[in-house]
Amino acid sequence: MSQTIWNPEMECMSRSQLETLQLERLRALVDYCDRNVEFYHKRLLEAKVTADKIKTLSDIQYIPYTTKADLRDTYPFGMFSVPTKQLVRLHASSGTTGNPTVVGYTREDLDNWAEQVARVATAAGATQESMVQICFGYGMFTGALGLHYGLEKIGATVVPTSAGNTQKQLKFMRDFGTDTIVATPSYCLYLAESAKEEGHPIENYRLKLGLLGSEGCTPEMRQEIEQSWGNGFFVTDNYGMSELNGPGLSGECRERNGLHINEDHFLCEVIDSSSGEVLEKGSTGELVVTALTKRGLPMLRYRTKDITYLEYQPCACGRTTARMHKVLGRSDDMLKIRGVNVFPSQIESALISFQEIGPHYQLVVRREGYADTLEVKVELIDGSVLQTYGDLEGLQKRIHDQIRSILGIEITVSLVEPKSLERFTGKAQRVVDLRNTEKHN
Ligand code: ZN
Repeated sequence: MSQTIWNPEMECMSRSQLETLQLERLRALVDYCDRNVEFYHKRLLEAKVTADKIKTLSDIQYIPYTTKADLRDTYPFGMFSVPTKQLVRLHASSGTTGNPTVVGYTREDLDNWAEQVARVATAAGATQESMVQICFGYGMFTGALGLHYGLEKIGATVVPTSAGNTQKQLKFMRDFGTDTIVATPSYCLYLAESAKEEGHPIENYRLKLGLLGSEGCTPEMRQEIEQSWGNGFFVTDNYGMSELNGPGLSGECRERNGLHINEDHFLCEVIDSSSGEVLEKGSTGELVVTALTKRGLPMLRYRTKDITYLEYQPCACGRTTARMHKVLGRSDDMLKIRGVNVFPSQIESALISFQEIGPHYQLVVRREGYADTLEVKVELIDGSVLQTYGDLEGLQKRIHDQIRSILGIEITVSLVEPKSLERFTGKAQRVVDLRNTEKHN
C-alpha cells in the first residue's frame, strides 16, 4: 500500500513553520474566546490573559485549563460561541452520571473535522479505492459520522452499516468486497469469529485495513485480530474525543510508531495530572489539547485525562508532525509507585501472554518503611501447578521478569488458586491501595 500523504503542506512542514502557525492561531483563538464566550471571558480575565500577552507558545501556560466538568456545569450550550442557529450539527457524549456533554459544530468546524479524519485515514492506508464499512453506532456518538465524512472526503466508498446485525455485516463484507473496516477492536474480533462460525471460508473476505478505535487495544489484541482475519489484515489506531471534534486528532501511519497529531489544528501539551504542572518534552503525563481551529465550541487547554507521551523524531513516512504514544491509561487509574507511573493496563498486557493464568488479577500496593511495594496477585487456570514446586517457581519467575521489565520497578508475584480472587459484575476493582490505611500500624 502506498504512503500517500493527504495534505503534505500541513503534515510535512518544518517545526519552525509549524510553531509560527500555531502561535498565530493560538492568539486568534484566545481573542475569539475572550470576545465570544462569557465563560472564557471570565476565566481569562481572572488569569489576566489577553491575546497580546501570548508572545510565545510557552505562554499558553498562563491560560487556565478546561475540564469535562466545565462542560457539564454549562449544559447544554453555555460554552458555545455562537447561537445554535449558526451551528449545523450537535453531538453529545454519553453521561453515565448527570448531564451529558454537548458539542456543536459550525460549517467550518465540520469541514476541518473531515480534513483531520481524511489525513488520519490516508495515513492508515485508506484511499479513493477503498470500500469502507462503518460498524460504529451512528447517532449522538461522534465516531461514526466523524469517520464517515472524512472517508467520503478522500473519495472512499462508505457503507454505513452502523453497529449490530453481525450476519448482515458479514454478508455485505463478502458481497461488496469490503476491504476497510471501522469498528471497535473487540467487535472486529467478534466479526472474525462469527465469520468462521458461519462457515464461509475466510478467503471470501477481502479485508485489508482496520481503522479501529473508541476503546483500548493492546499490541497482543491487535495481533490476535490481525491473525484471525489473516490475509495481511492491518490494524491501525486513531484517537480523538467529542470535545475535540471526535476522531481525527491523531492516527497511526503505516510505520505504526505512534499516532501522528494534526498539529496545525491541535496544540498538545503533557502535564502532571496531580499538580497541573507542564512537563518537559517527552515526559509521560496527561494530554492537554488546545483546539486551534475549533469555533462553535472552542476549547482552550482541554484536559483529556488520557496518559501518553509525545515523540518529535522524524517518522519514516515523511510526516513531520509529533506523534503521541498509544494512550497508556486514564489519569484516574494511574498509580504512582516509588515515583514511577504504573497503569493496570500495562500489567494486563504482560499477563495476557501466559497461558497458565486466567484474566483475573489484583494489584496490592503497600508502604513498608518509606518504600512502596507492589504485589501482583494472579489467578491460575489449573490449580495443579501449585502442587509442583518447580513449575510454580518457574512460572512465578517468568511473570515477575516480564512485568518488571515493562514497569522498570521491583514487584512481587503471587500465584493463587483458581476462582479465589473476587469477581466483579461492573467495572473490575483491580487495585487495592493500602498505603494510607496501613501507614500508622
Ligand atoms: Zn509516520
